[in-house]
Amino acid sequence: MRQINDTVAGEGFADVLATLDWEATATRLSTITEVDVRRVLAKAESGRQLDTDDFLILVSEAANPFLEQMAQLAHRFTLERFGRTISMYIPMYVSNACTNKCVYCGFNHDNDISRTVLTMEQVHAECKAIKKLGPFENLLIVSGEYPALCGVDYFREVLKVCRPYFHNLTMEVQPMRQQEYEQLIEVGLNGVVCFQETYRQTAYRECHPRGMKSIFRWRLNGYDRMGRAGLHKIGMGILLGLQPDWRTDAVMMATHLRYLQRRYWRTRYSINLPRLCPSESGFQPRVVVTDRQLAQLTIAFRLFDHDVDISYSTRESDSFRRNMMPLGVTSMSAGSRTEPGGYASTPEALEQFAITDSRSPQTVAADIRAKGYEPVWKDWDSIFD
Ligand code: SF4
Repeated sequence: MRQINDTVAGEGFADVLATLDWEATATRLSTITEVDVRRVLAKAESGRQLDTDDFLILVSEAANPFLEQMAQLAHRFTLERFGRTISMYIPMYVSNACTNKCVYCGFNHDNDISRTVLTMEQVHAECKAIKKLGPFENLLIVSGEYPALCGVDYFREVLKVCRPYFHNLTMEVQPMRQQEYEQLIEVGLNGVVCFQETYRQTAYRECHPRGMKSIFRWRLNGYDRMGRAGLHKIGMGILLGLQPDWRTDAVMMATHLRYLQRRYWRTRYSINLPRLCPSESGFQPRVVVTDRQLAQLTIAFRLFDHDVDISYSTRESDSFRRNMMPLGVTSMSAGSRTEPGGYASTPEALEQFAITDSRSPQTVAADIRAKGYEPVWKDWDSIFD
């Protein structure tokens, strides 16, 4: 199976990543000096575009004492590009069936939990229930990875049901073939979010021991397949805490982002930086990324790229999300349920991960306004599709 899937993975970033030296990058991170940081900050201040080596310097430990200066620049660039706005979205889980065995996830195939795949009637009910929660127009459709139950045909039906309710449809499901993405775009798919989880192959193998997700190249080149299919937006992310060296992982992700932007320049990109939560599987994060470190990482991405969307989910606390609003974050979820059918009913199905910010969408929106920002429920019209 691995050989077949390596073939269909196609050309892409996996070949570029193979030329990057993880250890050398980690070593360089540890040798950055105050002089290097000052030089990059002067470059950022002048408005010149930063390269991936500049990004490396900004996420190094040496940059930590410069966080205030970095934050001021991030605030300036975010205001210039996005104004005082936060785009609102909500996830809708349609299935928790999964063939993979990600060691950190409550939906892991080996976990003895009740499995659900929503029917189209249930999807309708979820859409209606979400609309009662708030004027959401950005929907993130999420599922476990079980192509035999939830493949392209199933998702085409889901998209057709959701389309009349929401203007912007994004999916976070298993990576697909280019042709499958094209079939989904035909029925209204606007964007895909996919987490590479980590760019370190040894850690990736340990954490993803079975299923399609164990094939590193298939997942990594999935972003190229999305780009070739012409998706409007691609979301990417690493799972902080999966392996100890999050700084090197972030440098690899920044390299990947720049690679995609150069090749698929019509596509917009978003960055997700979730921190691992304890799950039903009992997995404990291998490193705790502190609030200050996550702030540094977020701000470094804003300085590296003024246009990229940066999304914070309800995994983060209300106070941290509030504090990060002016410093680069442009998109937030609210009112999230992470179990299939969680809006229309109170299902027995297990949540994928614990939610930290459980405030209602209205409360989150009021909080955003109190901070002087405008919650934006609709930033795309289906007429553009
Ligand atoms: S992280 Fe995704 S692919 Fe992995 S077990 Fe959970 S639902 Fe399945």
